[in-house]
Amino acid sequence: MDGFLECRGVGKTYQGKSGAVEALRGIDLSCGTGEFVCLLGLSGCGKSTLLQMIAGLETPSTGTIAINGTPLAGPSAETSIVFQDHGLFPWMTVQRNVEFNMKARGVATAERRDRAREFLAMTGLSGFAERYPHELSGGMRQRVGIARALTTQPKALLMDEPFGALDAQTRGRLQEELLQIWEGQRTTVLFVTHSIDEAVFLADRVVVFSPRPGRISAIVPIDLPRPRDPESPGFIALSKELRRKLAPDLHGAPLG
Ligand code: ADP
Ligand code: MG
Repeated sequence: MDGFLECRGVGKTYQGKSGAVEALRGIDLSCGTGEFVCLLGLSGCGKSTLLQMIAGLETPSTGTIAINGTPLAGPSAETSIVFQDHGLFPWMTVQRNVEFNMKARGVATAERRDRAREFLAMTGLSGFAERYPHELSGGMRQRVGIARALTTQPKALLMDEPFGALDAQTRGRLQEELLQIWEGQRTTVLFVTHSIDEAVFLADRVVVFSPRPGRISAIVPIDLPRPRDPESPGFIALSKELRRKLAPDLHGAPLG
């Protein structure tokens, strides 16, 4: 692994009205180019906080984050983020939403249009360019968010529970589509989820977080061949292992 992304001693404490909240402490994490890494944890253990910091949208309170050896100082051209609630602009068509990140980076109009078309086709949205977000299903809106993130040809896609609000069938379909895109584009993916099955289906490695303050409690390689079968013995064994690691207190771990 080449250490494309390096987090060293990363911590984050938020200063709220009712005092300080230590969201993360002592995060050490390396991810290689092209790796698919899932960040798995119960809600409140700092997954979104870590992703926002890697996206350059929040600043660590302690430690450093480097991408390709360069310490982060704000959003990097190497990464693109996909939000859980799609984060599309409701007053813009699909086409204009997908062009937005390129426009923000000064890509010329004609190139913007062509690249948007390419990524709309890749995400199965060719016929929907002139629609507005409210005219689309939840799954299609997430596809638009993914298309928009891909247009700047990022080295890493940062995804925060992107399929969390979708029905099981749509979610399964988008997981498969995401893997196809990942294999085609060879981008690194950091994917936040609280679903064990989603993590085992998608990831090369699963980083397990424990809460209060958020810390990494385990890193589990998923060495199952792809495409993965959730009913296979290997899949079930890894799901069980992750379930134990995610909530050890629910599994008869010795006290004290
Ligand atoms: P997760 O994504 O794993 O659910 P978060 O990173 O959203 O966890 O939150 C981790 C902790 O930090 C929680 O206790 C949350 O309330 C707190 N937190 C997150 N964002 C903020 C913020 N902007 N201000 C204050 N506290 C925050
Ligand atoms: Mg979150």
